[in-house]
Amino acid sequence: MRKPFIGGNWKMNTDSKIAVELARGVAQKCQQFLSKVDVSVCPPFVYLSAVKNALGSSNVGLGAQDVYFESKGAFTGEISCQMLKDVGCKNVLIGHSERRHVIKETDELINKKLIAAIEAGLLPIFCVGELLEQRKAGKTEQVVKEQIQKGMAGITVEKAKVVTIAYEPVWAIGTGVNATPGQAQEVHLMIRQLFAAMYNKSFAEQLRIQYGGSAKADNAAELMAQADVDGLLVGGASLKADEFAAMIKAAAEAKK
Ligand code: PEP
Repeated sequence: MRKPFIGGNWKMNTDSKIAVELARGVAQKCQQFLSKVDVSVCPPFVYLSAVKNALGSSNVGLGAQDVYFESKGAFTGEISCQMLKDVGCKNVLIGHSERRHVIKETDELINKKLIAAIEAGLLPIFCVGELLEQRKAGKTEQVVKEQIQKGMAGITVEKAKVVTIAYEPVWAIGTGVNATPGQAQEVHLMIRQLFAAMYNKSFAEQLRIQYGGSAKADNAAELMAQADVDGLLVGGASLKADEFAAMIKAAAEAKK
């Protein structure tokens, strides 16, 4: 049985006061579900330490929204895996669609980041997903497969075990239009089968696959009810502690 995993991606939102209040709210409202659900929040880099403090002794994990693959040196503006670990990060988002499509990150760069994060002992959430025109052209499977094959290139089964996949159709992110539970399930199953083929069946059965894209309290239960949806990566709705906690509760109940 895969333990559900809910991540909150705060993106470029909050300020120091709001970030701390939100973290305290999440820690307090989610505590009762943490034996059944893994939870991590990913604030902007500059608030990681403050959020870590605010999470206190709760078991809500801390994650970063990105990382660079080099360990140190002349890479102005970048943040290393070691720095993330130093401030208490457990998880890191890699390959988020906004980094792929706005910042123009390539599959090759994403692969280097994944390798560096795993080597450093971080637990990556590796994001994949198709654009609307790719879905309309019937290319969802091809696009997602290619992103996974290129992203995971050279990563052995032992190392791949720390990775969570987030399937996030780009057309559903921040749009208010979520994939239907059936659409999510179809792609999640395809991803699981791909991992079985790339690695092995028992590893694929353990792999956690989150859905992301306009997930909210209203649709969390039906998304989590799908057999291959093991969690959610939540943007907008993770900025409200009550709503985020409601989603965590829905995840706990869906996988009883
Ligand atoms: C995300 O940022 O990963 C995301 C899924 O955003 P939203 O929930 O706002 O669509």
